Amino acid sequence: MNFVPKGSYEPPRFDFSIPVRVNLSSDTQTKPSPAMKDAMMSAEVGDEQAGSDPTVWALCDRTAALLGKEAAVFLPSGTMCNQVALATHCRPGDEVLAHEDAHILSSEAGGPMAIAGVTIRGLSGARGMFDVATVEAAIRPKSRYAPSQTLLEVEQTANRGGGTCWPVGRLDAVTAAAHAHGLATHMDGARVMNAAVALGVPAAELAAGCDTVWLDFTKGLSAPLGAVLAGSKQFIGEAWRWKQRLGGSMRQGGICAAACLYALDHNIDRLAEDHANAKALARGMAQIQGITVEQPETNLVFFDTEGTGMTAAAFAGKLRQHGVMVSVSDKYRARACLHLDVSAAQVDEALGVMKLAAAH
Ligand SMILES: *Cc1c(COP(=O)(O)O)cnc(C)c1O
Repeated sequence: MNFVPKGSYEPPRFDFSIPVRVNLSSDTQTKPSPAMKDAMMSAEVGDEQAGSDPTVWALCDRTAALLGKEAAVFLPSGTMCNQVALATHCRPGDEVLAHEDAHILSSEAGGPMAIAGVTIRGLSGARGMFDVATVEAAIRPKSRYAPSQTLLEVEQTANRGGGTCWPVGRLDAVTAAAHAHGLATHMDGARVMNAAVALGVPAAELAAGCDTVWLDFTKGLSAPLGAVLAGSKQFIGEAWRWKQRLGGSMRQGGICAAACLYALDHNIDRLAEDHANAKALARGMAQIQGITVEQPETNLVFFDTEGTGMTAAAFAGKLRQHGVMVSVSDKYRARACLHLDVSAAQVDEALGVMKLAAAH
């Protein structure tokens, strides 16, 4: 078997000659603040993979409590949290149910198929969510012929769904349906804290119906590296085998865990500012001829450029010329993302540039 993926996809070299004025391309663009760097500099560290880094333990314990789970493990990225979780929950040949726009399907380089060896059945539903009837319809009668269905995955917030929040009742209903059919449940909680702040519901309550959940520290929480996967003590013990196998065990990880702890203390409540800025941006964009905006629920603002006669890529290219960055999702769909390094004044600045770009 040849395990080398075909195609070479080096990231394009960034054009540093055009200064960036407003970076709305992603909440991953947040940079560690001076105070966060101070916390990193003074972190007490050890050897993470040997279990002797006290700062990593502190982060895992706090995140497990925040997410309402028994135990947690620190990993370098959210993608690795998903890969480790899927590989731990499933066996090769199993089938996973997830929304058809899920990050595990669109953006993890086929990892679930290559690493866990699972297939993913994409469920449909508006705004990145589905309902119990859709789950029930996807459940296969148990037979020698069908793949074993072992896991249901949900995204909170649903990224490509529009940064939408699963309401607690709807989430609990689909996870209960999965459990009733013997499936485990996993939450891709890259932005679960955005959902918790927007809904005013503790993250532990949002994740209550999920056996495992992870939280990304490199999105709106602004840390430079790291994500934490939480679940039962038994599950996290098994997950450690995959962490080791994939090279996700670290050494003086406390330097990064200290940034994540800083984020837990300082960068959660303020996500409400990003949500307010997202609403202000959407309100302004709705006034721009040719742009159709999806109403934001959290910090992501998706919009359609077709009415301007430009593709999303062409529109984004024009904005970039004027120092404003957004990301391209589809031919005519683009995303502007609000975060700690974008102020209300910069939202106005971006709106001015967008108005000019849309008018050609
Ligand atoms: C960003 C993201 C991931 C991956 O996280 P990384 O830390 O970038 O690997 C997974 N799921 C969703 C929904 C995301 O937005």
